[in-house]
Amino acid sequence: MMSASVREEQHRGWSQPSTPRFLHADLDAFYASVEQRDHPELRGKPIAVGGGVILAASYEARAFGVKTAMTGRQARALCPQLITVDPRMEAYTEASRRVFDAFADCSPNVEGLSIDEAFIDISGLGRIAGPDATIAGNLRRRVLEDVGLPLSVGGGSTKFLAKVASAVAKPNGVLIVPDGGELDFLAPLPVGRLWGVGPVTEEALRSAGVNTVGEVAELAPELLVAKLGPAAGRHIHRLANNLDPRPIEVGRRRRSIGSQRSFPVGTIDRSGAQEILLEVTDRVTRRLRTGERIGRTVTIRLRYADYRAGTRSRTLIEATNATAAVLETATELLDEAWADVSERGLTRLGIAVSGLTDDTALQLTLPFTKHDRHRLDEAVDQIRDRFGLDAVTRAPLVGRPTIEMPLLPD
Ligand SMILES: [Mg+2]
Repeated sequence: MMSASVREEQHRGWSQPSTPRFLHADLDAFYASVEQRDHPELRGKPIAVGGGVILAASYEARAFGVKTAMTGRQARALCPQLITVDPRMEAYTEASRRVFDAFADCSPNVEGLSIDEAFIDISGLGRIAGPDATIAGNLRRRVLEDVGLPLSVGGGSTKFLAKVASAVAKPNGVLIVPDGGELDFLAPLPVGRLWGVGPVTEEALRSAGVNTVGEVAELAPELLVAKLGPAAGRHIHRLANNLDPRPIEVGRRRRSIGSQRSFPVGTIDRSGAQEILLEVTDRVTRRLRTGERIGRTVTIRLRYADYRAGTRSRTLIEATNATAAVLETATELLDEAWADVSERGLTRLGIAVSGLTDDTALQLTLPFTKHDRHRLDEAVDQIRDRFGLDAVTRAPLVGRPTIEMPLLPD
């Protein structure tokens, strides 16, 4: 028979080849935020979407106790100045689609939980995308710039922890629980934060003198089983100890890789746009090469000053991950779109490469000149891997100031 310590080692070997890291991303007061985005006169006011039954309430309305699923009558009794607006499901669906595009660009492993909420597996992305807090901050900025909505993000070593962290971070915040700090983070939280603990279970625990997650974690599992039944008792005891082995449930590989940059309207002329195009193309093709992927379809994504989005695509004869080949096509597409762009005002420019396959056959099919370009790209990638992202800058980017939109204050 194996000793306990040997079993423990083997168990770790099977289940944790690398440290898992998860984000839980959740839009704040989603429907109400879309209405406040599209109707500036509603910003800062207590509003609710839906008249008969409240579908969503702004944070200003929540301060009065207005909640989802209340009747309009109940809500107005709590908050007489409440403004109710009719739902516009089409606008919410469109916003959701674009938010999920941002999630998909963050990681290939995304598990959608609802129209405005997802788990994102960022395990192993640190080397490319930076620390968890940087990944979360970039995602929040992307959603704010791209869709105009506040997003809260929690992060940690399990899905459960990430979900609890995003709830604590709300509204419009970010909270990453560091490795090793899990139980300290959970301990002071009320038991109601545990997944699956509803009002009835919460009351049962409170009547037994158990108020916090830390107190649950310290109880013998048998006591919880006796109090709550075997399934709920074990489940809650495991969560209180941050034991949540569930992986992200997603069955597909990423279908496109994209990147974009936002800027204030009226600040970019055609040559400025070309510099941004080079920068985002460089980022995308580098990610393709890192993942040993090649793609056939190049899409440029535009966002105009009125928040409307536009795209133009072209499919290449041969799949590629070479910066020069993708940039050439993207440049043609931008030339074709430019008349439209100058008329409407541009606030974001991005590209995506789709129609992805593995690049195993690429070396054999490339003509010599393209192969040379490919080797230049590889050399640039290697220098960046060793010395950091800013070590090599392609010539037209030198000296250009970074334009970043500030985050709204939390
Ligand atoms: Mg939400």
